[in-house]
Amino acid sequence: MIIVMQQHADPKHIEAVVKRVEELGYKVHLSRGEARTIVGIIGADEHKLQTSSFEAMDGVEKTMRVMQPYKVASRDFSQEDTVINVNGVAIGGQKIVVMAGPCSVESREMILETAHAVKEAGGSVLRGGAFKPRSSPYSFQGMGEEGLRYLAEAREQTGLPIITEVMTPDEIELVADYADILQVGARNTQNYSLLKALGKLQKPVFLKRGMSSTIQELLMSAEYILAGGNMQVMVGERGIRTYETATRFTFDVNAIPVLKELTHLPVIADPAHGTGKWNLVTPIAKAAVAAGADSIMVEVHPNPAEAWSDGAQSLTLERFATMMRELRPVAEAVGRTL
Ligand code: PEP
Ligand code: MN
Repeated sequence: MIIVMQQHADPKHIEAVVKRVEELGYKVHLSRGEARTIVGIIGADEHKLQTSSFEAMDGVEKTMRVMQPYKVASRDFSQEDTVINVNGVAIGGQKIVVMAGPCSVESREMILETAHAVKEAGGSVLRGGAFKPRSSPYSFQGMGEEGLRYLAEAREQTGLPIITEVMTPDEIELVADYADILQVGARNTQNYSLLKALGKLQKPVFLKRGMSSTIQELLMSAEYILAGGNMQVMVGERGIRTYETATRFTFDVNAIPVLKELTHLPVIADPAHGTGKWNLVTPIAKAAVAAGADSIMVEVHPNPAEAWSDGAQSLTLERFATMMRELRPVAEAVGRTL
């Protein structure tokens, strides 16, 4: 439920409403517009809330039940775009944030070399998997904590915040110790025990769309994290399963403007997993920026032919720099910077 305050409501009245919500045992999210403040109630069973008791309070214009099944994630809950600040990098704002790095951390040298190249070309966040969800149990499963240590060293050297995947609730503490953003991969989009555990953190989470998830299912999964009180959630398109076999997955460009309409959360596009082919990454990254994505995540490797995972969709360091140059005018054409 959201409580819409009257225009220019007295701060004392807003405070009283917040206090009342907290006394009922719920968390509050304040959305302060220019004229009006909206008090969002987090974690409440909508049917148990007495709307009339709030409507009688001073400064309250009306209460509204959010009609979508996802509540906190919805645009009704917060009209303004959520901007998530990660060590000074604002995700969801005017500047399009590029996250780049290898699919997997393979060695100290390769992650350091990649991190410096990403930084130099204008990337803002370093990615790299240490715990890898592989389709085959015989494939490389990631370097684990050693990989996290190398990522942290790369952050120290470059200043780039780091994003890496977490696969199980048991790993959260360890991964959160190192990472600035925790990634939930497509294979875990509907792993509700993982999502609930991430809701208890106060740390940014990038939730990818499952390869067979609808947009609504993605937002319901985001809601699990938000309902726990962690408001720093970003959602993203990474390609879905269709009958098409020319590409690894089908990048659903529709999802970008649909998500921007339905949610205030930052929207990230991953054209690497979305296509599976390095030569399609830049064209689809351009399409995603034109469609309104707040951030682009791509895979970059010093030598893709030798990569231990996802080499076919990885850009070389040079090609990454070229992609950045080519994306800039597209970003500017839609009123953004890169
Ligand atoms: C990845 O980012 O390397 C990854 C495994 O992505 P996804 O979960 O989208 O397959
Ligand atoms: Mn990958």
